[in-house]
Amino acid sequence: MLQTRRLLSRLRDMMALGFSMIGSGNGADGVPLGELAALVATEMVAEVCTIYAMRPGDLLELTATHGLNPEAVGRTRLRVGEGIVGIVAATATVQNLPDAQNHPAFAYRPETGEAPFASLLAVPVRRGGRILGVIAVQNRAPRRYLDDEVELLETVAMLLAEVLAAAGATDGAEQGLGATMPRQFQATPFAPGIAIGPVVLHGAGTPLRRLLADDPVQEAARLDLAIASMRQTLDDLIETKLPAGDGPREVLEATRLVAGDGGWMRRVREAVAGGLTAEAAVHRVANDIRDRMRRIADPYLRERLADMEDLAGRLLAALDGDDVVPAIPLGAILIARRLGPAQLLEWHARGIGGVAIEEGSSAGHAAILARALGLPALGGVRGLLAAVEDGDVAVLDADEGQLILRPDSEVRTAYGRALEMRLQLETGFAAQRHLPAQTLDGLSLSLMLNVGLVREVEHLDTTGAAGIGLFRTEIAMLARGEIADVPEQAALYARVLDAAGDRPVRFRTLDLGGDKLLPDAPRQEEENPAMGWRSLRVGLDRPALMRRQLRALLLAAQGRTLSVMFPMVATVAEFRAARDLLLAEAERVRPAPERLLIGSMIEIPALLWQLPALMAEADFVSIGSNDLMQFLFAADRGTPGLAGRYDLLSPPVLDALDHICTAAAAAEVEVSVCGEHAGRPLEAMVLAALGITTLSMPAASLLRLKAAFASVHLAELRAVLAAVRRNSAGQASLRAPLLSWAREHGHLV
Ligand code: PEP
Ligand code: MG
Repeated sequence: MLQTRRLLSRLRDMMALGFSMIGSGNGADGVPLGELAALVATEMVAEVCTIYAMRPGDLLELTATHGLNPEAVGRTRLRVGEGIVGIVAATATVQNLPDAQNHPAFAYRPETGEAPFASLLAVPVRRGGRILGVIAVQNRAPRRYLDDEVELLETVAMLLAEVLAAAGATDGAEQGLGATMPRQFQATPFAPGIAIGPVVLHGAGTPLRRLLADDPVQEAARLDLAIASMRQTLDDLIETKLPAGDGPREVLEATRLVAGDGGWMRRVREAVAGGLTAEAAVHRVANDIRDRMRRIADPYLRERLADMEDLAGRLLAALDGDDVVPAIPLGAILIARRLGPAQLLEWHARGIGGVAIEEGSSAGHAAILARALGLPALGGVRGLLAAVEDGDVAVLDADEGQLILRPDSEVRTAYGRALEMRLQLETGFAAQRHLPAQTLDGLSLSLMLNVGLVREVEHLDTTGAAGIGLFRTEIAMLARGEIADVPEQAALYARVLDAAGDRPVRFRTLDLGGDKLLPDAPRQEEENPAMGWRSLRVGLDRPALMRRQLRALLLAAQGRTLSVMFPMVATVAEFRAARDLLLAEAERVRPAPERLLIGSMIEIPALLWQLPALMAEADFVSIGSNDLMQFLFAADRGTPGLAGRYDLLSPPVLDALDHICTAAAAAEVEVSVCGEHAGRPLEAMVLAALGITTLSMPAASLLRLKAAFASVHLAELRAVLAAVRRNSAGQASLRAPLLSWAREHGHLV
């Protein structure tokens, strides 16, 4: 603690004089940054301390050093991701290595003269979720730095962040820190649409103004007041400001639990006792927890990380005396490293026009919610936070999977026009609501909705959908944080059936596991959770759980038609076992449904070789193309880097779909597609051309798709498809010729 206070108070004196960004020179205004490096090295008993600052083009430049060759200052540059320092910047994690030189990622730069130093501790310098640089210390003797030393360097990094940010803001032009050039990012579309607006950063909070408290006792009292106020705000939010529905309440109850957790609050208090301001203490502890959690693959723990970040933001707002949520420009584009569903709901209520997430996957909860809200969203936007500046404007084009930061005026105008057109078209689409879904040559389609939250059922009316082709029952449970009991589940399903009226609803039984975990679910290490103990496998191994859900569904139906389908069926025997559980429950529940339809999803490739047997027993089948694609190509659907690598419009998938259609036609069983592909115009047209005319999709896609179908002559597409497939041997995708046909004919794709 003493060491921390002494170092920090000397740094505070230096800050008062201001820093010059010139590493070790003299004559410039302010204290050379090299002196900061020297001070840190001395206090930490390190032989080397170096500071790297982020430069345009994702380059880290050696900006100041104590202990390495001063000639290297301004010359040595590393790409983000290159060498240990580059890894720290790319991953925003601390690296504490006793033998850095033999680390596989070590990038040797002879001009620095760092060969003799074995141990290395490198810490990211970040502010508002962006990486501004890296600070590192080195020693000759191999050693792992102690936790206290790591914390000390992290505290210095917080201060350095203010120095680097100020340099960027004041003399950025000369220093090259200011970023004014447009930048484009390729990303994964999470929810379609276009948005243009100023950016707002999730979790950016207020900049750190004071690092060291004048009086730790007074500061501790200030912290206690803020904690009490934060808890009160959270209680108020839960009691008074929640939108309708149980889901958001349950999610926020989980956040309230984390707020009551003594562990991280105790660490914040300790940091304040050590001399930091309450704000600095929250930043430091939050950064530290973030780093630890980032190394954890467990999706549940990672979601708790989002809760933690949310709370740290709330606590900082309370310390600022600011419990009113500040207004944001309407239509702003939210930029986040990660985002939980509750946070997205809150931002949506504040009026954002779109969201771009650095991490996350299109099958994750934020993405599913964005689609439900009709909010344009992109994911996997690597490097965005590091590039974005306060006051930037961005174009988010989730149709094309790209984000343009600081677009030049022509691009902005063009997008402005496109957006206007789209709005007009959408108003035009709204007129489509009451029109039948059919192609130009008169083929009728059944366009249905994929739904997870009860509130989404209202989209049946706003879109004129034919029904609900997929009700993901686990989403409602995930939003609650637990599986509701039978009466609660029955009430929920009954609300859905009431709202749907005579439109069909297909309830899918719980599809938990993989990335969809309930907080109290037994956790077991699985190397491949998507292929692990999940979904129907859990239901069949825990029949009591499954029977409770089936009973609730039967109770909800009360003399109406009940349509149930099972996810992740791998064998006909599994389908039978699940069906028998349903039939056994149906014997007991009165009044019985008027009709009971039992279907199977086709998501596991093994079913492709069991189709006649399956079709003989199922009333309908629905192709879950998200999982079917994942398993056909052994390509994790949640890995952003794999998105777009394999195509539904490829010979093997089209052959598989043909195979399913042929078996379904022979058995006179209805086949539909309810994966995300069904909501994409080109894919949907091709599916219809193959004979799949029941398509279930997110609400935001439905009217657009209806309009797209209205312009298509399906017989013509069938001929084009047949021709393209005849010449398709060995091709990875048939998208290009199909797309050019669609564009040539002016179809909306
Ligand atoms: C699918 O896998 O395509 C599907 C519809 O199910 P989910 O996305 O919920 O796994
Ligand atoms: Mg699935």
